[in-house]
Amino acid sequence: MKSILKSIHSGKEYSLDDIRFTSDDGELLDVIHDLDAIKKQHNISREYFLRKRALLNGQPTGGVWHFKEMVLPAIPDEQVVSKQEGNTRLYRNKKIASWLGLKFDRFFLKHEGENPTGSFKDRGMTAAITMAKALHQRAVTCASTGNTSASLAAFASEAELTGIVLIPKGNVAVGKISQALAYGTKTLIVNGDFDDCMRLIREAQEKLQAYPLNSINPFRIEGQKTIIWETLMQLNWQVPDWFVFPGGNLGNTSAFGKALFEAYELGLIDRMPRFAVIQAEGASPFYKAYKNNFKEIKKEKADTIATAIKIGDPVNYTKAVRSLKWTNGIVESVTDEEILEAKAHVDAAGIGAEPASCATVAGVKKLLSSGEFKPNETIVGILTGNVLKDPQVIVDYHFNRKTSLANPPHDIEASIDELKKFL
Ligand SMILES: *Cc1c(COP(=O)(O)O)cnc(C)c1O
Repeated sequence: MKSILKSIHSGKEYSLDDIRFTSDDGELLDVIHDLDAIKKQHNISREYFLRKRALLNGQPTGGVWHFKEMVLPAIPDEQVVSKQEGNTRLYRNKKIASWLGLKFDRFFLKHEGENPTGSFKDRGMTAAITMAKALHQRAVTCASTGNTSASLAAFASEAELTGIVLIPKGNVAVGKISQALAYGTKTLIVNGDFDDCMRLIREAQEKLQAYPLNSINPFRIEGQKTIIWETLMQLNWQVPDWFVFPGGNLGNTSAFGKALFEAYELGLIDRMPRFAVIQAEGASPFYKAYKNNFKEIKKEKADTIATAIKIGDPVNYTKAVRSLKWTNGIVESVTDEEILEAKAHVDAAGIGAEPASCATVAGVKKLLSSGEFKPNETIVGILTGNVLKDPQVIVDYHFNRKTSLANPPHDIEASIDELKKFL
């Protein structure tokens, strides 16, 4: 029962311990498991996962490693590097549902911002860093100032590996790298551009055994699949009509499609839900390619307030196209204004999420008003990142906007009469 790496179209095969991220012909790689053997060995069924409360290093897991058989089956339990990621809440909320015009019990928000470092990146990171250890790598690297570096930093610390984040000079926002600094990762500001950083990452892998954890790493996809399986389990394996989520580098789009394909193959579900991938208008190469029947994707200079999806050249494009074909999926784009409005509603409901996550809810709003979504359909939206990731956007909104949800602070004298006015 061996898993392999396989290029997604040409089908070239490589061993799992062959450290590579594309095939010889330049295609993305899938991790392919022997699903038939896994199903037989564990007698996999819906009940199997409902019953199971796996113990990993003495603690009940749930989360990513609840599904270890279909994530990294060959890795011994004691080699897994985990921060108990996953096990995130599936919210229902009256305020948000009524703003959208949806039924309370048909609209769910899966909050991946409630992971250990505040984004779904932890799900991919636990799997990829476990592989880094299994492959005897000395260090882990990525080029990113955002949630990937934050997650890499925390898991490198957990794994006792050196973590290195490369950032091109001139692109350093202190707020964004604060988690990487805090968790003790080496932050290197490179006198060069993003391509120079990527070149260094590749060279460091070949010459220094420093393992890349950028979006292209196929093991990250394996961990991220569990967002879908966990949601289905929370819904008692009732398949919703739609999964809605933001698209940046399209790792989630790729992972979610693979998760459903495998769930179908294993007999865990009997029909496919549909995907709606939401992009920000100023960073929407995938949306434009979709409108063009995926004839081609054009790289663009990205610009949006939703920094986590400010991507002009998504690395997982070919896998994402495949996911949309499997799920009869659609792509929509929303403006920064629509994202901010949706965010004000998500935040005011006491849930809160970072701007990129709220593209999900803005997308649901738009697809309901265009008639693509029907009010009686069951919709699951994924909130990808935590409200605390981007406080500046929140402060700017509430201090400067004149909308009904704007909630600026008030100066008062220290008297009960003044306080009373606010009750
Ligand atoms: C990384 C990230 C995204 C984009 O996800 P992709 O898998 O690259 O499409 C969206 N939201 C948040 C909060 C993220 O950190």
